[in-house]
Formats: sequence, structure tokens, C-alpha cells
Amino acid sequence: MDFSLTNDQERLLELARDFARREIAPHVADYDREERFPIEIIRAAAELGLMGGVVPTEYGGAGLDHKTYAMLVEEVSRVCHVVGVAMSLPSGLVGSSIQAFGTEEQKQRYLAPLARGEIFGGAGVTEARSGTDVSDMDTRCRVDGSDYVISGAKMWISFLDVAKWFLTFAHLGVDERTGRKRICAFIIDADLPGVSVHPLTNKFGFRPIKTGELVLDDVRVPKEALVGEEGRGFSVAMNAVENGRLGVAARATGLAQACVTVMSDYAKERIVFKRPLASFQMVQQMIADSTNVTEAARLLVLRLADLKDRGLRARAEASMAKQFASDAAMQAALAAFQIHGAYGVSEEYPVGRYLRDAKVFQIVEGNNQLHRSLIAESRTGIR
Ligand SMILES: Cc1cc2nc3c(=O)[nH]c(=O)nc-3n(C[C@H](O)[C@H](O)[C@H](O)COP(=O)(O)OP(=O)(O)OC[C@H]3O[C@@H](n4cnc5c(N)ncnc54)[C@H](O)[C@@H]3O)c2cc1C
Repeated sequence: MDFSLTNDQERLLELARDFARREIAPHVADYDREERFPIEIIRAAAELGLMGGVVPTEYGGAGLDHKTYAMLVEEVSRVCHVVGVAMSLPSGLVGSSIQAFGTEEQKQRYLAPLARGEIFGGAGVTEARSGTDVSDMDTRCRVDGSDYVISGAKMWISFLDVAKWFLTFAHLGVDERTGRKRICAFIIDADLPGVSVHPLTNKFGFRPIKTGELVLDDVRVPKEALVGEEGRGFSVAMNAVENGRLGVAARATGLAQACVTVMSDYAKERIVFKRPLASFQMVQQMIADSTNVTEAARLLVLRLADLKDRGLRARAEASMAKQFASDAAMQAALAAFQIHGAYGVSEEYPVGRYLRDAKVFQIVEGNNQLHRSLIAESRTGIR
């Protein structure tokens, strides 16, 4: 792989770096504390063309290649990965399935305004009982004339306060031949009768994102709301999560890099025993190990992006990038917190937020135990 940047890539990353320093950095601690999604920042990012990711230009996107997109998301996530999530929505969890399985009308109506940063959409995959085992969902749908009627609830769904629609899933009962639930994927407008949202408050991490329950109480949608084929929605769900992994890994790498930067700066400035912390070998070890895992995470992200640019399936590589990058973020956040000593506890420094968010990264978009199982399965063929 060639790691040199083109002039266009350098310009775009410089634009993002400058935007993050001026528009995000002064506010991130406040909106994290207030649990407020910084919609004005997202709008400003959209005006600069930072939201469109890999979505083709005919659907409102920026038409970037996956490597450029991943570097862009990492760059912004070094300052705030929540802005990075918003930048990932059109290319990842929410938008990629509409691009892959949606009709032309769905792409124009839902994907294009999402990619332009005009509206937000959510992905309702997880349920309270079945959790990681997505195929065992309880939410049901039935056919009624030319409509579907959907009943159930999704849990831990993000962007409840701003999403205008949700890509979500329900089943039509068990297929007697295969013994599997016949899952359908739908786009559901958030203002339809029967749709209600119940966000959690005072979350441990990812605080600016409103996450919680999405209730679907006899929600009636026309057949045009179906994404992909009836009964084949599990492929849509897996496409969504697999494509989400490049974005989540890039964001976790950005967080890991932020930890390395703050721990290095602090270790140079803080003098104890008449020496900078950076002169103690055990502190140096924490900085070196955190740097190594961050660099390695970046390489896994770029390799995943490269496979995607070449149109290759990258299931195991997506798991490797997500699991390793989020573990790297956790390792680097723990080290950054340790190096800050008592000051890590205070709001004056960002390392508390970094540590809380790093922990959540190890759980979302497939917990890291699941990803390790998938990586092992790719080597042994055994589940
Ligand atoms: C802040 C936040 C935002 C989220 N946003 C969304 C969203 O927008 N849309 C959405 O659909 N979901 C979302 N989620 C849900 C998230 O993806 C799930 O929490 C996650 O997939 C795990 O599901 P669970 O919490 O039910 O854990 P469970 O399935 O109950 O698992 C609990 C633990 O058991 C272990 N475990 C589970 N399965 C396995 C396995 N196969 N092998 C080994 N160990 C295993 C792991 O340690 C895991 O952490 C969000 C969650 C959070 C915290």
C-alpha cells in the first residue's frame, strides 16, 4: 500500500483539522456535559462538504474513496468522535444499506438529504432481549392489504432526538423450511402514528448522542417502505453493521490518537521529583505502548478501507479493525488517565471523557468478544 497522501487528501484533512480545532474543540466538553447533540456543528461540517463520505455524488454524497473517508473521520474524531459518528451515518450503519438495497426513490428521498447533512436517520437493530443475537429479534410485522403493520421495540437506538427516520427490522414469523425468522428491513418515518422514542439520560459515555428505546406500536407502512426483499432483511442488517465498522474503527483510532497526544503533552509539562513525567521509563512505556497500538489500529483501518475500495468482501478485516481500534482506544485512555494522576479526575482535562467513551467503543457495533469469535471463525471455519 502507498501511504503517501495526494494533494487533494492533504487539503481535505487540513480543512477538517482546522474545522475541528476552531469549531468543535472549544465546545466539546460543554455539550458532552449537557448531553446535547451539537447540531449546529454538524450543519457547519455539512456546509464544508464533510458529511457526504463515500456516498456517490448523484445521491448527495462526496464520492470519496474509503481510505480518504476513513482518514477524514479519524481526523475529526481526534477532537470529537460524536461529530465523527454523524459523518459516518450516510456511508455506514444507516446509509450504506439504502445504497446497496434501496430503490431509486428511497435513495433520493432518504439517502441524499442524509448525505448532504440536511437530516439525520437512525438504525434500529438491537433489541432489549436478544441483544447481540440480532436474528432472534421479537419485533414482528404482518401484511395487511398493501401495507405492513409493525409491532415491537428496539433498544439502545441512537439519534432518537434528531432522526427523521429509522432503518429498522421486524420478522414475519419463522420459516418452516429453514427454522429462521423471516426478517424484513424497513425505513420508518419518525413521525408516523405508533412511533415513539424514549431516550435514556445521564449516560456513562457517548453522552451527546440521545440513545434509548424506539417503540413501534402497530406502525402501518406501505410496501414502498420495505428495503430489499421481503424475508431477506437479515442481509440488510448485516450489510449495515459490516459497513458501519470502518467508521467506528476510524473513530476509535481518532480517540486513541487524542489520548496519545494529551498524555504526551502532559508528560512533558508535569514536573515531579524535579523531572518531567516523560523522563520516567514506566511513563515512557505507557506512551510507547499506546502509540504502537494506535498506529497499528490505523493500519488495520486503512487495510479495511483499501479492501473496500477494491470492492472486496472484508468481513474478518472489519472485525479486526473494530476490535483492535476500540481496544487500542481503551488502552490509550487508561494510560492517559493514569499519567494525568489526580488531574485526570477533574473536568479540566478531557481524559475522563476519553476513558468513558473508549469503554463504550468496546461494546457498540458488535461487542469485542463477538468480533474475536468472528476473527477466529475466519481462520478455523468453526463457529
Ligand atoms: C451508546 C450506545 C449507542 C448504541 N447505538 C445503537 C444504535 O444506534 N442502533 C442499534 O441497533 N444498537 C445500538 N446500540 C446497541 C449496541 O450495538 C449493543 O449494545 C451491542 O451490540 C451489544 O448488545 P447488548 O448490549 O444487548 O449485549 P448482550 O448481547 O447482552 O451482550 C453482553 C455481553 O456479553 C458478551 N457477549 C455477547 N455475545 C457474545 C458472543 N457471541 N460471544 C462472546 N461474548 C458475547 C459480551 O461481553 C457483551 O458485551 C448502542 C449501544 C450503546 C451503549
